[in-house]
Amino acid sequence: MNDLPDDLDATTPPPARCENAPLIPPLELSVVYRMRDPDDADARLSGAASGYVYARDRHPNAVELAAKCSRLHAAEEGVVCGSGMGALAAAVLAFIEHGQEVIVSDQLYGLSVNLLAKELARFGIRSRIVDTSSLNDVEQALLSRPRMLVCETISNPNLRVANLPDLARLCQANGTLLLVDNTFATPVYCQPLRWGADVVHESLTKMMNGHSDVTLGFLGGRRELWARVPMVASTWGLTASPFDCWLASRGLGTLAVRMERASANAQAVAEYLHARRDLVSVHYPGLPSHPDHALARSLLSGGYGSMVTFTLPGGRDAATRFIHAVGDSIPFAPSLGDLNTTLSHPESTSHRGYSAAERERLGIDGGTIRLSVGIESAAEIVAALRLALA
Ligand SMILES: *Cc1c(COP(=O)(O)O)cnc(C)c1O
Repeated sequence: MNDLPDDLDATTPPPARCENAPLIPPLELSVVYRMRDPDDADARLSGAASGYVYARDRHPNAVELAAKCSRLHAAEEGVVCGSGMGALAAAVLAFIEHGQEVIVSDQLYGLSVNLLAKELARFGIRSRIVDTSSLNDVEQALLSRPRMLVCETISNPNLRVANLPDLARLCQANGTLLLVDNTFATPVYCQPLRWGADVVHESLTKMMNGHSDVTLGFLGGRRELWARVPMVASTWGLTASPFDCWLASRGLGTLAVRMERASANAQAVAEYLHARRDLVSVHYPGLPSHPDHALARSLLSGGYGSMVTFTLPGGRDAATRFIHAVGDSIPFAPSLGDLNTTLSHPESTSHRGYSAAERERLGIDGGTIRLSVGIESAAEIVAALRLALA
């Protein structure tokens, strides 16, 4: 082997930062940071000095993204995790003890139900599934003083809107923490902490990043609740990679304009579908026919989000024909929050873990299609739907 110069070695200290700052945040991939001496290590590891030690604990891109998300939610503290589920797991591990109980909304994201109602049972944490659209049912469930209640601002796929002020009041009166998954609303339309929630949860994978190229999650809340959260996220290995955080931070720069456009498009799409009168149902909180329209008007600020759900007559066969007919103009991609419109089929994807009876209760059948409306022109989306429905 040739005798190569030492300065090609990646461990050679990098050149000092130039004096004038770059316009955009740099991507800091380093897993570990240099310590001057044992006293310096002591100070940084004890938290007495700022700076970074090891990327699983903290790194600049995660700190920057968490700060942005915290500002969007007016949260005193926030943490970014490697996925939305990672963030929910961090909340559970930080806030709930063995022997305590969690109330689970009956309309939660499938894997959230799996975590809260099935996985937690293995660790002696009890759960109860409750219709959180019924304040009576919630009041009954809170009599046992559970540790936490988990609901979504806008649920999937029926887009039910949670009555956050009333839920917060009931939870507070019983000493129960209210955790709100705000993924479908985003802070553009709802800031649950302002309505009295204790903890807000976002899957940044969806609209927040907005480009379908990272999985990340965020948890935000009050400082007094936060002592254990960063330690739990690092100890259980739930934290996120610098590159994912860097991408999501860029995505957040366009969040408000993307949501404004997508939400206006979704309203137009919902009105078009509703006016057809040949569908079994059309769900969108911006339609006066939606059961939570009045609540959505008071809770959501200036828009109803980008998700629209409808049910075709003719069950699964009709859905399959529709998905083939719409083809590449609206891809069947079982996630949401991309730049472009995508569709999902709850029966075969998000709600496949539900029993047929549970799906029937939620009004989901084989003909149900959930649209994640994107930022194309509304006319283009409606034209693709019209063609496929014909
Ligand atoms: C996708 C999603 C999650 C989970 O987030 P991941 O980033 O996929 O782990 C949680 N809640 C809702 C409402 C979601 O849509």
